[in-house]
Amino acid sequence: MLAPRGAGSAGRVISAFMQAPPPTRLITNGRIWQGLPKPAGAGAGIAGGADGPAALAIAALDGRILAVGPVRELQARYPHSERLDAGGRLVTPGFIDCHTHIVHGGNRAQEFERRRAGESYQSIARSGGGILASVAATRAASLPQLIDTALPRVDALLAEGVTTLEIKSGYGLDLETELRMLQAARALGAARRVSIATTYLGAHAVPPEHSGNADGYIERLCTELIPAVAASGLADAFDAYCEELAFTAAQVARAFAAARTQGLAVKLHADQLSNMHGASLASRHGALSADHLEYTDEAGVMELAAAGTVAVLLPGAFYFLRERQRPPVDALRRAGVPLAVATDCNPGTSPLTSILTAMNLAAVEFGLSTEECLAGVTRTAARALGLQASTGTIEAGKWCDLAIWNVAQPAELVNNLGARPLHQRIWHGEPQS
Ligand SMILES: [Zn+2]
Repeated sequence: MLAPRGAGSAGRVISAFMQAPPPTRLITNGRIWQGLPKPAGAGAGIAGGADGPAALAIAALDGRILAVGPVRELQARYPHSERLDAGGRLVTPGFIDCHTHIVHGGNRAQEFERRRAGESYQSIARSGGGILASVAATRAASLPQLIDTALPRVDALLAEGVTTLEIKSGYGLDLETELRMLQAARALGAARRVSIATTYLGAHAVPPEHSGNADGYIERLCTELIPAVAASGLADAFDAYCEELAFTAAQVARAFAAARTQGLAVKLHADQLSNMHGASLASRHGALSADHLEYTDEAGVMELAAAGTVAVLLPGAFYFLRERQRPPVDALRRAGVPLAVATDCNPGTSPLTSILTAMNLAAVEFGLSTEECLAGVTRTAARALGLQASTGTIEAGKWCDLAIWNVAQPAELVNNLGARPLHQRIWHGEPQS
């Protein structure tokens, strides 16, 4: 409440006294899947107590979770709270898509047709298609165009309960366009109620002006581009593509060292189409995550486990490219490597804007359990972004980012392909319409 004009210091004191603190929000009557770690092999259970599965409530204030506990206890502790009745629905942490290329110019639907006619992804990439086709289209796109074309894709993810989204650059490969992509990513976070983590994918492909001279580009990346992007403050992490089509392990190692020197966390597109020992490379550099991993061998799995690096599985690209080599899920599981699942939303190899479909593909194609799929888009996805202290589970102190679903059991989220089960998304304590 504002003090009347000219009220002076007495008025200000009265106004401060009368200003009610923001009400605590109490989310009741939900069947809560908290996302806490479970013993291996445990099912995707709902939290609960002696009074049944909907007996727990969530209290939130200033966007953060204050407490999770028995509803009667929280009602007594916060008697003047604003209630939100979940109506007996499933409540999960807001989903986190921890690997996307959702900002890009153009599309590559023609390549889809060429692949249907029998051409391989590698052959299309060598003839100027693939990543370089998106580089040309993205360089030609303005900042508003990049934002406008990404918004429908972002909205599709939000409609499936996503509250945190990672966005990579990497289709500019020159400083100006890379910064424009990262600005677009940040602008999407201002345009919508969603948390954005940005990643500078500086080593995605050798830009055309370097005429295939990968070493020359890596030199420029390390001495010029990485320091400039880090100084811009627009990137939270650095990413690279270690593949025969892109960069060798030695080249990526140089870029990782430069990125770490600049204070950027690192991530890697690893072992997608061949075993480049990318898992090992990522582990040696303390990467937050190693992503894809179809061709990772046992030694790579053990290194990921030792380093605590998250394995991000991207079943959309596996499906879309009709790959046959599956990531070593059993070995990753046995070694205790945390598994995350993401859409890899990109114009060429995974034009997927459905996190629920990514979960279904992870279950059907890679054999993940419901619990693994859910953890893969919440708790471990947060860890893949280094955000595990602030999001990914329903626990006191974390952001109150939730998804309320028109289902009773978690398995329905993975099973019901093509369903639109979201009832309500809550970002930082605020229900989103
Ligand atoms: Zn990717």
